Amino acid sequence: MTSPSRIIALLLDEHDDAQQFVSHARDVLEMAQPHAREVVAMCVTRTHRPELAERLQGLPLHHIVCIVVADLRDPVQAVDFASVFERALQAFALQHGDGVCAPAGALGEEVVARLAAAFDGCAFGRVQQLVFDANDAQADRAVFGGRSTVRVRAGHGPWFAALRTARACAVPSVPAVPAVAATLEWREASSGPHDAGEIVGVAGDAARIPVETARIVVSGGRGMQGPDGFELLAKLASRLDAALGGSLPAVDAGWLPVTHQVGQSGKFVSPAIYLAVGISGTPQHLAGVSTTTRIVAINNDEQADIFNMADVGIVADWGTFLPALIARMDATRDARANSR
Ligand SMILES: Cc1cc2nc3c(=O)[nH]c(=O)nc-3n(C[C@H](O)[C@H](O)[C@H](O)COP(=O)(O)OP(=O)(O)OC[C@H]3O[C@@H](n4cnc5c(N)ncnc54)[C@H](O)[C@@H]3O)c2cc1C
Repeated sequence: MTSPSRIIALLLDEHDDAQQFVSHARDVLEMAQPHAREVVAMCVTRTHRPELAERLQGLPLHHIVCIVVADLRDPVQAVDFASVFERALQAFALQHGDGVCAPAGALGEEVVARLAAAFDGCAFGRVQQLVFDANDAQADRAVFGGRSTVRVRAGHGPWFAALRTARACAVPSVPAVPAVAATLEWREASSGPHDAGEIVGVAGDAARIPVETARIVVSGGRGMQGPDGFELLAKLASRLDAALGGSLPAVDAGWLPVTHQVGQSGKFVSPAIYLAVGISGTPQHLAGVSTTTRIVAINNDEQADIFNMADVGIVADWGTFLPALIARMDATRDARANSR
């Protein structure tokens, strides 16, 4: 019988929020008990946080590693967290059966995806629940915008998951007082060195707003032709207070984090307005857009399928249309400000 040897809870948060750290550690403990031989918490903060360590020591963890990374970039980049965690996890010599859990969300999901690639492990992605049988760890994942759930099994190597904080496991709650205090280890690390060619989060707030809950989603496809096109989309999105989304080819090309992929194998979105730029409108993509959403499409091919679904269709090259649109929006905003 194989059961997970160790489960490591990665504690990371954009704002170093101690409550989020403790809450995720509790979620992982609830899920791990009684299956794991050891549960370890590994947290990254910008400053030395003894009060956080003390709160974590109040939980029945086996080991706590607090890593202080003073040079974390602002805004935070998943690649920095992944690099720090990767170096720290190397000391654990992860094996098949071991698991690593980050909190669900754009940051955690990208971090576990990067770590799964680095350790040649199994990437579960965002999971609702983890279950363990005689052979392996298995994860329940929501699909088709939450309309259904699939259970996937870890194939080889350690597994990596971003766990939703639903306290979804039918196991007893974590005891209030641990039987044995966890061993505590402090470390200092640097987030670098940074590779000039690395893919970091798209600039601006747009890439931080979750697509699932946004009122407006500005989405790009293969027709955006590269990261410059997505920079322009991010500019437009920030002016509209919109989230940035994209098609599978755009994600595959590295122009956008996978957490922002819309479609059958990505996220289901139901904003009031979905602006699709350089997206052809395949069924797999549109499966991720609610039927109640109004679609505005910009495409240079007037025969593109997206126009069959769009409420407003604009036949144009985004390379000329988007800069003109942004310039017009800025001029209108400036004129309003001057008239006050
Ligand atoms: C099992 C499975 C699951 C899948 N899951 C997903 C999923 O979750 N999400 C998803 O998106 N896809 C998914 N796909 C892939 C899907 O089949 C398509 O390949 C994908 O949606 C196409 O993406 P696209 O529209 O960006 O690219 P394309 O189909 O290549 O379309 C690019 C569009 O850009 C336009 N364009 C080009 N240049 C310009 C310009 N300068 N200005 C304006 N327009 C321009 C073109 O006219 C074209 O219409 C899945 C496929 C499979 C088999």
